[in-house]
Amino acid sequence: MRVDKRKVVIVGTGMVGMSYAYSLLNQSVCDELVLIDVNKTRAIGEAMDLNHGLAFANASMTIYAGEYSDCADADIVVICAGVAQKPGETRLDLLKRNAQVFRSIIDPVTSSGFNGIFLVATNPVDIMTRITCVLSGFNPRRVLGSGTALDTARLRYLLGEYLKVDPRNVHAYVMGEHGDSEFVPWSQALLATKPILELCGENDAVCRERLDQIEEEVRTAAYKIIEAKNATYYGIGMALTRITKAILGDEHSVLTVSAMMRGDFGQRDVFVGAPCIINQNGIQKVLPLSLTDGEMEKMSKSCDTLRESFEGIF
Ligand code: NAD
Repeated sequence: MRVDKRKVVIVGTGMVGMSYAYSLLNQSVCDELVLIDVNKTRAIGEAMDLNHGLAFANASMTIYAGEYSDCADADIVVICAGVAQKPGETRLDLLKRNAQVFRSIIDPVTSSGFNGIFLVATNPVDIMTRITCVLSGFNPRRVLGSGTALDTARLRYLLGEYLKVDPRNVHAYVMGEHGDSEFVPWSQALLATKPILELCGENDAVCRERLDQIEEEVRTAAYKIIEAKNATYYGIGMALTRITKAILGDEHSVLTVSAMMRGDFGQRDVFVGAPCIINQNGIQKVLPLSLTDGEMEKMSKSCDTLRESFEGIF
């Protein structure tokens, strides 16, 4: 009999937070789910709505709108809270405002005695994850962001379509910033055990061109979705669920999350998307990949961009 309940707290019950909550419920990922938002009424309404689906769920779950004190015995606190850019506001101004929002969240979470893992989805996710690490004072291995997990899922889906295979047999990653400087290290992309660059074979030029297009489609996917429906949330909700399962299930699964680099890929003092082994303690290890010189250069540029953005905030 299981005695320790799996407890998740979501801070920010907007579209992303609630898509994640809905996915947690449908996949029966935890036993207790707490919803926190600066707009308490909204959190209460969302908890009611989810509870009314429980009769149709696969397993029971305790769901309620709570307080920061509820984080004390949580396994994971997931931050999906954010403020939108105001007209005329620069990216750095927005970042500074979001840093203030995070201070108002992380201080009460840590004061509750929370001793679990922080998972961050708020954009720009690599910077917000680093801010969470600084403000919480937690070991960086217990602070992770969704990073390029969603971008990697988009890549595997598009490659699966192009190669006409199940995306689950495509092993390829998006690395770097969750944003414009992200990249695909093609030297590491495999279909089962076959390098995808080798598969291109005789069709080389056409195939390479399609791979470049796919990389661009992944990089610009969020812009296209936002143009069409103002926001993206289902995909990120499922990506957060996948990461949560890896943590709660102590899976040691490889996922591309935003993690602190400590000499990995020649980088330090930056949180960035890279394939990591995830278990109940958070990031067990950043997977060392044999990137080409060109790929190392792209990683370095992406990290420089992130370091520059972070330096303007504090
Ligand atoms: P939203 O506006 O629907 O929800 C944001 C929620 O945060 C609101 O309910 C708001 O009340 C709450 N909030 C604001 N300040 C708060 C505070 N101080 N304390 C507690 N709650 C607070 O936005 P959304 O569409 O859910 O997006 C949320 C974030 O997720 C954004 O930063 C967005 O860019 C990001 N996002 C990330 C990814 C990714 O891949 N990492 C993908 C999509 C969206």
